[in-house]
Amino acid sequence: MVDDRLDVYDLIPKVELHCHVEGTVRPGTVVELARKAGRPLPVDDPSLLYRYDSLDSFLAVFWLVQETLVSRDDWARIAYESVVDGAAHGLRYREMFFTPARHLAAGQDLGDIVAGLTEGIEAAEAETAARCMLIAGIDKAYGGGAGLALVERLGELRRSGRAERVIGIGADSTELGVDMRQFQPAYAAARDLGLRRTCHAGEAVGVGPENIRLAIDVLGAQRIDHGVAIVEDPTLVARCASERIPLTVCPTSNVVIANRYRSLAEHPLVAMRDAGLLLTINTDDPAMMDLDLGREYRAVAEGCGVTAAWLANLAIDGIESTWLDAADRATLRAEFTAMTEGIVGDDA
Ligand SMILES: [Zn+2]
Repeated sequence: MVDDRLDVYDLIPKVELHCHVEGTVRPGTVVELARKAGRPLPVDDPSLLYRYDSLDSFLAVFWLVQETLVSRDDWARIAYESVVDGAAHGLRYREMFFTPARHLAAGQDLGDIVAGLTEGIEAAEAETAARCMLIAGIDKAYGGGAGLALVERLGELRRSGRAERVIGIGADSTELGVDMRQFQPAYAAARDLGLRRTCHAGEAVGVGPENIRLAIDVLGAQRIDHGVAIVEDPTLVARCASERIPLTVCPTSNVVIANRYRSLAEHPLVAMRDAGLLLTINTDDPAMMDLDLGREYRAVAEGCGVTAAWLANLAIDGIESTWLDAADRATLRAEFTAMTEGIVGDDA
């Protein structure tokens, strides 16, 4: 029975591997958290909160939202709302970033943050069909030392059984002027802890494919976030396709936040898939772009000229990009395939 309030793009079952919990906070929630934290906001109307006209002004809003998260309950609330909101648009499995550098520098405990996020996710999982694991994001702006300290603290938590939801690390935030090599010790420590590794690379305007190569060869990244600059290097495209190194692509974000393309019609998503790359479509920071996963899929359909069946197939193939084990992947693939047949028919 299809819910007629939802369209096909909401109904397509999806994995999402590139979404920052701090970028999913409902505007009304930011206002409430800011009031509670005693942090004045520059606007009274919550709908005006997520207005920005450049990457720098976007980051200013992102950091403002981060500053409203001061207690374990705040983290629990945003994680809960984030997963519930995703599930309403077809999210079935997410590996979600949280980037705690600012909070740790301000004296918050990583154990409390992870406990809050875990609590919120568990509450959302109990109410929806979505599941969610966590990726600890290194904020590149804080440098390699802070990155290594984050991984070491994560290791302590894992040894005491307090970070089981955190299955990997990533590195996000600014890319310009950052030497990726400084994060090598953090990535090596993460590998030794048995954590999976991904990395934002090849996103910002002015950055070519070299950061993608560094992420793979120096940091040992097993997945690349964004990575759209890869199209400038056919050898690297062929290598990532043959080694099945996934890229988590965020088409609307690349237009709206990074300003790398003027419109989705210019986005290389379709060419990347045609070249055999393993891809997922993701929202990155959906609340800040008035976006959700269903609207992202619709925007790609309309902007890139692909069908719902093409998107549903991409979503099924995206299961291979997850860090689920083989049995969970097989289960999810069977579920997606069955659901997809009922939604887009034999075209899939
Ligand atoms: Zn991102």
